[in-house]
Amino acid sequence: MDFNRIKEKLNILADAAKYDVSCSSSGSNRKNKNNGLGDTGNGICHTYTEDGRCVSLLKILLTNHCIFDCAYCVTRKSNDIKRAAFKIQEVVDLTINFYRRNYIEGLFLSSGIFKSADHTMERLIAVAKKLREEENFNGYIHLKSIPGASDELMYEAGLYADRLSVNIEIPTISGLKLLAPDKKHEDFIKPMQKVKDEIIRYKEEKKIIKSTSKYAPAGQSTQMIIGATGESDKDIMYSATHFYKNFNMKRVYYSGYVPISSDSRLPSLGSEVPMLRENRLYQTDWLLRFYGFSVNEILDVNNPNLDMDIDPKLMWALRNLNHFPIDINKADARMLARIPGIGMGSVHKIISGRKYRNLNWEHLKKMGVALNRAQYFIICNSNDWERRDLDANKIKGMILQSQQSKYKNIHNNQLSLFNLSNHLIN
Ligand code: SF4
Repeated sequence: MDFNRIKEKLNILADAAKYDVSCSSSGSNRKNKNNGLGDTGNGICHTYTEDGRCVSLLKILLTNHCIFDCAYCVTRKSNDIKRAAFKIQEVVDLTINFYRRNYIEGLFLSSGIFKSADHTMERLIAVAKKLREEENFNGYIHLKSIPGASDELMYEAGLYADRLSVNIEIPTISGLKLLAPDKKHEDFIKPMQKVKDEIIRYKEEKKIIKSTSKYAPAGQSTQMIIGATGESDKDIMYSATHFYKNFNMKRVYYSGYVPISSDSRLPSLGSEVPMLRENRLYQTDWLLRFYGFSVNEILDVNNPNLDMDIDPKLMWALRNLNHFPIDINKADARMLARIPGIGMGSVHKIISGRKYRNLNWEHLKKMGVALNRAQYFIICNSNDWERRDLDANKIKGMILQSQQSKYKNIHNNQLSLFNLSNHLIN
């Protein structure tokens, strides 16, 4: 094995993979001290398994050669960049070597499309198959599905991979046509549908035949690029809901577009999507999946975008003050979960705590309720609701002010600790 060439490929193909966030990635700066193959600072990311374990993954592309020319992608064929391609055996060897050195617990493998969707998918599957059957590798494998790959290959991929994902990339069909004219919407939908059907079929079979092997046991996910076209947050969340509902997605990931080229179809260079927009979309996604909200409660024609100043639950509550105040000692779990400042953990604590006593402010504080937000929406052990005269704007202003002073206090405390330590040193 030519170590220098492998190292060079690793640099190119790990860097190209960093734009894909659909494995909950975060960079690692683990260094190799032995001058060997492990200098993979930007090649290792983390993901969470179904049972909540955090695992490190080798995150790479098989190749960054691509026959397509998607305007938003650094790997597009018209982009003048250094190209590389791993051989199948090279990825297998890297995975096993890194695994043995304890650098990783699994593999995240994606690819540009070379020759055709099926040809690329066959090579991705060949890596996973070799790892499972020849190396007896039982670690986590996440394979990207190539849009347009055949049903037969999607079936085979699920026999070896824990998770499969096809990135929808652009949230609307019109946006996709504009920026990725080589791709067809059906090319994403077909593999997703196949994976969904096979997961259901295998689960049903397992109920009858216990020894049925697993098929993509960690399910499927997808990723949308945010801000490359002019979609509103409403469009994005409706699209995400469609994929959760119709394809049993485990996760939809939202990735802010990083301007990489001057192209009249795209936002200009330097106009990055604020990280806060991604955060607000993830918060909304969470409310839809775990808090019983529907998209039209949070986003509608009059409010097509999320408020960057406040979280989406608070945004909803301020527009629906008629639902409040909520009595903490009487409300059902569904309504408790709608109170700003109360998460699902606190909902469970409130419901079990109030079996034994009427809860008061002190109890709520101990349960971890964020009273700086919740106080405007609840009554607790009394019918008095001191905030009844405040309108939505006033409440929003007071909450924002309390958040600012909270951060100011933390900052001041840190400053005084810093001054104190300086004093001790001097
Ligand atoms: S097909 Fe995939 S890798 Fe190729 S240009 Fe489009 S997004 Fe990039």
